[in-house]
Amino acid sequence: EAKNKGKNCAQFFTQAMEQKARRNRELIRSLRDAINESQFEIYYQPIVETFTGKIHKAEALIRWFHPIEGMISPVEFIPLAEETKLINEIGEYVLKDCILRLQRLRREIDPDFQISINKSPIQFQSNVIETERVWQKRMEEADVPCSALNIEITEGLLLTSEDSVTTKLECLRRQGFQFSIDDFGTGYSALAYLKRIKVEYLKIDRAFISKLDTDHDDKVLCEAIIVMAHKLGIKVIAEGVETEAHLKLLKEMKCDYCQGFYFSRPVPFKELIKSLSKSRSLA
Ligand code: C2E
Ligand code: MG
Ligand code: MG
Ligand code: MG
Repeated sequence: EAKNKGKNCAQFFTQAMEQKARRNRELIRSLRDAINESQFEIYYQPIVETFTGKIHKAEALIRWFHPIEGMISPVEFIPLAEETKLINEIGEYVLKDCILRLQRLRREIDPDFQISINKSPIQFQSNVIETERVWQKRMEEADVPCSALNIEITEGLLLTSEDSVTTKLECLRRQGFQFSIDDFGTGYSALAYLKRIKVEYLKIDRAFISKLDTDHDDKVLCEAIIVMAHKLGIKVIAEGVETEAHLKLLKEMKCDYCQGFYFSRPVPFKELIKSLSKSRSLA
């Protein structure tokens, strides 16, 4: 009986795994079409200055509108794009959109408006420094300074401590690009890398923010992260701010920026610019 149960269980897992593998293969195939047919749209989520409520930053978050399946989350397809290196082409697409949007935002909303773009570790893998040059060239052609783009990287990338990665990061820094550490606190948090690579921002992961008002330990950790970052001259962005209570505590902790559903979900660019123009004409 028990033996049978185990066998059934194993069978079930094998089936589930095969199903998942099949879906992934299909997704990878349609991902190529998606690139060719531009099935993506870049959404933007405002990043709010905690003390003034001003918005002069936003994060670019990709959406895939599959012709049959509808919207597919980046949580599902970004790992597949990384696995197949298609992320390089997708990254170019996102960059192009960001640059176009930056031109308009800096002209109409704020000459210092900044957009954050997520860059996967895979995008730092190519052997040549070529991609870094391309990014700079694109910015130059569009007449947008590199400092208008904030590159979000994860702790994992910094832990590889490969010289090539450090070299590329330094190259991008010299060109003027700014950097954020995304999902801070969920990786290995070895912290030593903070000495090696200079970043402007640190984004506290949503996991710490969601229970800020109910979990004493999370509150203490947030406080400590903010104090540490400030002492290192790094600004802090809280991710996943969903309630008034979160905001109140983050104000007390002197967190510099807040991002989350409490202020706005990621929205199409049209909506972003509409709400920004509205709040500007009210001011
Ligand atoms: P991320 O960079 O950490 O982005 C933040 C995620 O948190 C976004 O999910 C955003 O919609 C979500 N979020 C923001 N505020 C709240 C909130 O108050 N509550 C909750 N529950 N969630 C909130 P999204 O858009 O699904 O993206 C997921 C991840 O996919 C991103 O995490 C990022 O790692 C990756 N990703 C998205 N766009 C790109 C891209 O263009 N390139 C690359 N390489 N990765 C991307
Ligand atoms: Mg991010
Ligand atoms: Mg994040
Ligand atoms: Mg994330």
